[in-house]
Amino acid sequence: MEPITVNPLTTAKPMLEIIGIDKFFGRNHILKNCSINVHKGETVVLIGPSGSGKSTLLRCVNLLEPVDGGAIFFGNQEITAAEVVPHRIRQEIGMVFQNYELFSHLSAAENIMLAPMTVLGMSRADAHDIALELLGKVRIPDKADAFPDELSGGQQQRVAIARALAMKPKLMLYDEPTSALDPEMIREVLDVMTDLSAEGMTSVVVTHEMGFAKRAANRIVFMERGEIIENATGRDFFGGDVSERAQRFLDQIL
Ligand code: ADP
Ligand code: MG
Repeated sequence: MEPITVNPLTTAKPMLEIIGIDKFFGRNHILKNCSINVHKGETVVLIGPSGSGKSTLLRCVNLLEPVDGGAIFFGNQEITAAEVVPHRIRQEIGMVFQNYELFSHLSAAENIMLAPMTVLGMSRADAHDIALELLGKVRIPDKADAFPDELSGGQQQRVAIARALAMKPKLMLYDEPTSALDPEMIREVLDVMTDLSAEGMTSVVVTHEMGFAKRAANRIVFMERGEIIENATGRDFFGGDVSERAQRFLDQIL
């Protein structure tokens, strides 16, 4: 008999299980029975037209929005359960938004130090060490003392990534992290994200940057009008094995 080869990534319990979630805003059915699994170490890229529910889905995972049906498991815990304390979960999930929203009165290093000091009770010296290390990781080691308005958009977004990493999250969520940036800055942010994915940071990334998706995504999920239409490996997706609806979307953005 042929040996059965199994990919441990696909058989292990997922780190994140989104199971049939529904979300309404008023009478609008925004997320319709959406399910996605994300395994440890995977990068999942979420694409779809504007208004399809991508941000809402990420916000549900980060408990910024309650779901109206279904469940989300993070590790062994059902985080959509009533007794869950959202800020505890958010400590383990880093989120990066389109508009980096750094604190303008704090330096780059201080932005990164804030949560470790206030939430984890870390000393200023230890937090500063971590900030310097992370600024190196996001490739701006010399910007510790710079204030946000002294940094380019791409540099600010990398500080925002470092700030999220400072809490040592198990999962990173990125919501169109480069869509507010000038073209020349997009690449430097995507390079940092690619490094993180290559190092095994589990990530869900909403982006239209298909070059990044090709380089970094294990899976591509395509959403339209609140429904998950496609959930394919990068290889199948870019190999052209996609639904007509996903192909129509790709033809528009590429
Ligand atoms: P995407 O990120 O894919 O562009 P969103 O998740 O932002 O989509 O939005 C999905 C739909 O939900 C849109 O029709 C949007 O108008 C609606 N929506 C998002 N947030 C809210 C809200 N807080 N209140 C009411 N409707 C919302
Ligand atoms: Mg959005």
